[in-house]
Amino acid sequence: MAFEGLSEKITSAFKKLKNRGRLSEADVKSAMREIKLALLEADVNFKVVKQFTKTVTERATGAEILESLSPAQQVIKIVNEELTKLMGGSNQKINISPNPPTVIMMVGLQGAGKTTNGAKLAGLLKKQQQRRPLLVACDVYRPAAIEQLKVVGGKLDIPVFEMGQGDPVEIAKAGVDYAKKNAYDLVLLDTAGRLHIDEALMDELKNIKATVKPAEIMLVVDAMTGQDAVNVASAFDEALGIDGILMAKMDGDARGGAALSTKAVTGKPIKFIGTGEKLGDIEPFHPDRMASRILGMGDMLTLIEKAQENYDAKKAAELEKKVRANRLTLTDFADQLGQFEDPEKMQSMLKMIPGMDASALAGAQVDTKAVGHTKAIIQSMTPKERDNPSIINFSRKKRIAAGCGLKIEDVNRLLKQFEMMQKMTRQFNNMSKKGRKKGGMG
Ligand code: GDP
Repeated sequence: MAFEGLSEKITSAFKKLKNRGRLSEADVKSAMREIKLALLEADVNFKVVKQFTKTVTERATGAEILESLSPAQQVIKIVNEELTKLMGGSNQKINISPNPPTVIMMVGLQGAGKTTNGAKLAGLLKKQQQRRPLLVACDVYRPAAIEQLKVVGGKLDIPVFEMGQGDPVEIAKAGVDYAKKNAYDLVLLDTAGRLHIDEALMDELKNIKATVKPAEIMLVVDAMTGQDAVNVASAFDEALGIDGILMAKMDGDARGGAALSTKAVTGKPIKFIGTGEKLGDIEPFHPDRMASRILGMGDMLTLIEKAQENYDAKKAAELEKKVRANRLTLTDFADQLGQFEDPEKMQSMLKMIPGMDASALAGAQVDTKAVGHTKAIIQSMTPKERDNPSIINFSRKKRIAAGCGLKIEDVNRLLKQFEMMQKMTRQFNNMSKKGRKKGGMG
């Protein structure tokens, strides 16, 4: 996931703060210097970084904070809130038209991920909102584009409307008419891209916009291109006017700067993120949850939603209840691991568990083998031990390790991770409780 480097550096700056008792203004300023560098290294727009650090420093050096009982926690809370604000505050949904069909016009440069993510989005809305989507092939210049749309549409069982290499404006109009006649309530137009923004492209997009009056113009940008993605967003917004951004390729090793700067620079919100090449790899963008992930606090809510998608709703609801009540057990942990055979998916899921942040992962080396070990260790325990690992004494640890052919250190490491997960879950609950009180997150 993007943000790994940023996350590590910010958590390390916080660790230094936590190790001190009462904070001085100098302590805060030095932590803020580290955070500023970390943001710049993550390729966040310079002006955005400057404004961000100014705001946080002002808030964090206030007398109220420096004299409070846990100043380090307060500073973390401020950074969390400001990061959330920076990314747009709350999750922004796509515009739904009161008279169906809702037309979403997918635009973007070639290779950004427009076709794939248009299909992903159609698939997500079909699943989550029980919509009947239709994909419309308006990219007539790249012959492979229509074929590609049919392939992804076929995989998701979503029909594709096409008229070969005709006029894109006519195709868009005919596609919307076809949707009306056949009771499709959602139309996604896959428009053409170019390697660069040019007038001909913008004119074509403007014509489509004027003809079909889409409810949402969704720009797809490539997170891997960093600041360029932000420039592309500004240019499309000025020329065409966009409603939302889908930031694709957030799974790559991009440094995350684009996701942090876009809202502040363009004023337009990121509504979704693409997190992989598979057609299920898309998530609604929640600024508060992303801030929490960046700060190494995990993202229990997205984890629960993913769980809902991957297994039955009853189990997911049970999981959420346990998280809220601070009652996660190792059985739940193993259960989660068991749901995901795909190691890549597993990695991204693990990172959402509080305590399994970048720094914890760096130490624990969660690779496929380690995941297999974790499962084996949990399976070697008795059900009672899984529910309450604190009853596991030294001789039991030895037996458990022998039972799965591992070392006692492996068992200790897992128990330590679990303890951290519980601690972070408690923090998460405290934070979201406080957030709820003032009508914020949670
Ligand atoms: P278009 O030219 O804008 O329509 O781009 P495509 O949809 O053809 O995507 C270009 C490439 O990016 C393809 O190889 C996609 O599989 C890949 N891609 C799209 N979205 C993502 C994503 O979220 N993560 C990753 N890793 N790859 C993506």
